[in-house]
Amino acid sequence: MTTKRRPALRTLICPQCLQKAVLQRILYGMPGSDFDFKKYAVGGCLVEPMQPDIACRECGWRGHRDSMEDL
Ligand SMILES: [Zn+2]
Repeated sequence: MTTKRRPALRTLICPQCLQKAVLQRILYGMPGSDFDFKKYAVGGCLVEPMQPDIACRECGWRGHRDSMEDL
C-alpha cells in the first residue's frame, strides 16, 4: 500500500483560467444539511465512468484530479 501524498487542491492552478485556489472537489449525490457549498461543487446524482471529480468555481472548468498530479 502506497501512501503517496497529493498536493492540496487549493495549491493547484486551473488549466483554463489559470487562477489559483479555485478548484473544488465535485461531490456526487444528494448534499446533506451540513454540506459545505463553499468548499465543494455539486455534481448531481448521475454517476458515469470517467466523470470529472474537480471543478473550477471561477470559469466552470471540470476535469480529473488525477490529471493534475504533475503540476
Ligand atoms: Zn478556471
